[in-house]
Amino acid sequence: MTNKILVTGGSGLVGRALRLYLPNAIYASSYNYDLRDPGGVDALFVKHRPNHIIHLAGKVGGVGINLSHPVEFFEDNILINTNVLREAHRHGVGRLVSCMSTCVFPNDVEYPLQPDKIHLGEPHPTNFGYAYAKRMLEVQTRAYRQQYNKEWFTAIPTNIYGPHDNFNLESSHVIPALIHKCYIAKQTNTPWVIWGSGRAIREFVFVSDVACVLANMITSYSNPEPLIISTPHQCSIREVVRMISQCMEFDGEIIYDDTKPEGQYRKPSDISPLRSFMPDFRHTSLETGIELTVKWFTENYESSRK
Ligand code: NDP
Repeated sequence: MTNKILVTGGSGLVGRALRLYLPNAIYASSYNYDLRDPGGVDALFVKHRPNHIIHLAGKVGGVGINLSHPVEFFEDNILINTNVLREAHRHGVGRLVSCMSTCVFPNDVEYPLQPDKIHLGEPHPTNFGYAYAKRMLEVQTRAYRQQYNKEWFTAIPTNIYGPHDNFNLESSHVIPALIHKCYIAKQTNTPWVIWGSGRAIREFVFVSDVACVLANMITSYSNPEPLIISTPHQCSIREVVRMISQCMEFDGEIIYDDTKPEGQYRKPSDISPLRSFMPDFRHTSLETGIELTVKWFTENYESSRK
């Protein structure tokens, strides 16, 4: 049997980075097939007849757009995931790896984040639509494994960043938003205003690292537990700001607006299962990742998603 891998969400941040590790896979976007429609998923699978699937497609965004559009974040993701897994079963797909997010974890959880804590309480109210839809991906995957012995798995990446990210100020995540705002402040000679005190500490994982782990998961992951894809390098928003300003050569005023929300102070995750799965894996440092991302954004400003 040929090893034909289909990647849904192939035009997104993670999908583009996967091309380096899986150059022969098929990369689908929403352009020809809307995966919210079961007919679209069926047509995609009939056309390509994949043996294995890395399922990345989803409605993805930062806090602002999650707050204003919880219906779409819930419904689109529920529909896409339900259709992709159901049709994958109907079409006899072998291995399947899909992505949740650390947003799935309860708001009030004991740290570090570990996969057995996903369903222990309400997710953060800012993104409950997205979080509940993503939790159901774990439930659906577990159900297929139990009833049909599927070799299907889920990953839980933390905050991903890198080239080809979404830099739109209304819908982007933290790092692309900071890079874009710094770019504008530099161009317009105005202060760079940052939401919150900048003291919150986060785990930012470079997109190539996520892609590398997913490429390994589709061939050799065998643990029924979801795999958290994060980094051992925890970093405050202030440190991220310093790195971005250095890469951008920004020497204007930086203002921290601590009247704005910034979420929990720390959200550490347990990466020991990742270390056991890939003991020789070395993460990209945040300095290098930010440098590559800033370089990509400034060189591709016109064509970037913004
Ligand atoms: P992007 O937003 O960059 O890309 C989303 C992809 O999904 C695009 O290829 C898009 O296609 C496709 N898509 C969206 N809606 C549909 C649809 N209705 N039918 C078909 N395709 C659709 O996402 P990322 O690459 O950042 O995320 C990949 C996965 O990782 C997602 O499942 C996400 O939830 C998860 N994740 C992401 C994190 C992050 O920080 N970015 C953090 C943790 C998890 P098109 O380009 O045509 O619109």
